[in-house]
Amino acid sequence: MSTSPTPLHPVSLVGAGPGAADLLTVRALQRLQQADVVLYDLLVSPEILALLPKNCERICVGKRSSRHTLPQAEINRLIVAQARLGRRVVRLKGGDPFIFGRGGEEMQELAAAGIPCEVVPAVTAAMGAAAASGIPLTHRDHAQMVSFVTGHRRMDDGAAKLDWIRLLNAESTLVIYMGLGEATRIAAELMEHGEHAADTPMAIVSSATTPQQHIVHTTLGELPQALQDERLVSPALLIIGSVTTLHEELYPLIVQAQAMRPAGSTSE
Ligand code: SAH
Repeated sequence: MSTSPTPLHPVSLVGAGPGAADLLTVRALQRLQQADVVLYDLLVSPEILALLPKNCERICVGKRSSRHTLPQAEINRLIVAQARLGRRVVRLKGGDPFIFGRGGEEMQELAAAGIPCEVVPAVTAAMGAAAASGIPLTHRDHAQMVSFVTGHRRMDDGAAKLDWIRLLNAESTLVIYMGLGEATRIAAELMEHGEHAADTPMAIVSSATTPQQHIVHTTLGELPQALQDERLVSPALLIIGSVTTLHEELYPLIVQAQAMRPAGSTSE
């Protein structure tokens, strides 16, 4: 008698958002609650992992440039292997799966394996950091455009990759992901190759939306000094442009609103 093949469940690529558990979408929470196995990144907060069902298997696949983590090909292989076992697989990623999250590469692997897959979008770090620091990414008086770029360069990228800098003007907002380690170089390149003056305002927001959130407001020219004075840790975003000056005016309202909420009603 032939046995029928194990029915496959669709894989869910789920965005966990920037950190605070109450910024998860309702759909993300539903997928987590139904998961048999969750493959998660280091960026996913413990608070969110605490929402997983007790009997759900948790596999940390890492992903922070400086630490030992599984290579992407191995992660792809693992997702496919787990799905083929007939398990409900959630691939849980920091922020949004399709913003510097390699969600596209994982989905291509699933496409090649013929396994159905869905994407559950999330608040990306730029939007979490903007909201939590009182820095609107666009504003009619400051910026009509916003760009999300990665500060992490592949080893084979040469000076030609400075082209993106030339595309930016000082009236746009630039949000740089994975840029903390290279922040001094990036600031120097923006001043040297772009239209950005040394007094261009910028902010660094680390651990946005978590209790460890830290915001530093400075300028491109003063960035090296600010990095020495402040103890900034990953994950952090660089937000560059005149919108960052609004932080001074708007952030106090956020702090005030936070203080007026009953304790425990949000994660900060
Ligand atoms: N897919 C994610 C980005 C992954 S790349 C997203 O949509 O947000 C990892 C980078 O995201 C980090 O190096 C950092 O620049 C940024 N990042 C992620 N979470 C962050 C947080 N809570 N605060 C500040 N930056 C964060």
